[in-house]
Amino acid sequence: MEQELEDWAKYGVEGHFQARNPWFSYHKLFNERLSKIVGAKPDEVVATNTLTVNLHLLMISFYRPQGKRYKILMEASAFPSDQYAVETQVRMHGYDPADAIIEIAPRQGEHIIEEQDILQAIEDAGESLALVMLGGVNYYTGQFFDLAKITQAAHRVGAYAGYDLAHAVGNVPLQLHDWNIDFACWCSYKYLNSGPGGVGGIYVHEHHYSNPKIFRLGGWWGNSESTRFKMEKGFIPQNNAGSWQMSNAPVFNMVAHNASLDIYDKAGMKALREKSERLTAYLEWLLRQITHLPFEIITPTDAHRRGCQLSMLFGERGKEVFETLTANGVIADWREPNVIRVAPVPLYNTYEDCYKFYEILMSIK
Ligand SMILES: *Cc1c(COP(=O)(O)O)cnc(C)c1O
Repeated sequence: MEQELEDWAKYGVEGHFQARNPWFSYHKLFNERLSKIVGAKPDEVVATNTLTVNLHLLMISFYRPQGKRYKILMEASAFPSDQYAVETQVRMHGYDPADAIIEIAPRQGEHIIEEQDILQAIEDAGESLALVMLGGVNYYTGQFFDLAKITQAAHRVGAYAGYDLAHAVGNVPLQLHDWNIDFACWCSYKYLNSGPGGVGGIYVHEHHYSNPKIFRLGGWWGNSESTRFKMEKGFIPQNNAGSWQMSNAPVFNMVAHNASLDIYDKAGMKALREKSERLTAYLEWLLRQITHLPFEIITPTDAHRRGCQLSMLFGERGKEVFETLTANGVIADWREPNVIRVAPVPLYNTYEDCYKFYEILMSIK
């Protein structure tokens, strides 16, 4: 932060080119490191805007309803911002959300979605389906969907597949390019630790960003660099995911992202994931020893189908337990109506933290 302030003081606007990390290309500092986290090529990602804004910009490109093909498939009870985004995109094109949005819910009496139900719904929707848009990891249950399989099913019926990776990025192993995913977006202030309101990120598969038929809204930062400052008519998108950028990079905001991605790079997703699986399994084992509190873990037990989150669904006393945790210095998350989400994060949580968490629960009479 000090470095950017010094360069601003010293160079003023010339910092766009003279700063030690020139602001003109500041966003490019992240391509290599982000691409490793999400399993993409460096050109397929860019740090820009914020999550819901990116979701809209990407749907402008990948939700182009026409004729019979106008439906979007998503999970029921998705994060509200995603629901609002999809609802208003559908309305913008003149459709009724009740007709155009297909929602997949868990089966009666179950908490997580059967993947088979998603695949079946895609097949049933067939050529009426324009887009599959799911959260990569469901924010409420922590369920990590098989994105490769779902994408393949979407492509089979001629639909695109894009994902909101808010709870997946930096948490679970991703191979967006190899899984042939069309687009994805994420925020950096959850597992990526880049601070409140931190810059978001997008991924677009290379066979789309180079396709001139893929429409994108234009802004000068998405325009080809060679003509960006010529101030001429005619939007010429860059030949990379950066073409979805609108505005110049929010450098002060991105400073924390830069520092955080360094730590991620040093640790590596492979090592983080290894520890994550062990740490989460350990916490799960501890929680299963508890018999005096009325809760069940609704997150999948299969390590491949979850990240480091465990969602504890309470019959009663949920709020009271949550308040005790908070009073004891634990930052967990309360979700209405009755879920406590806890995330033993491999980057900074220890086995001892998990044990202490268990002890606090055991101290509740
Ligand atoms: C956190 C989160 C958001 C937040 O969106 P912003 O635009 O960054 O405020 C949206 N969707 C999901 C699934 C989230 O988990």
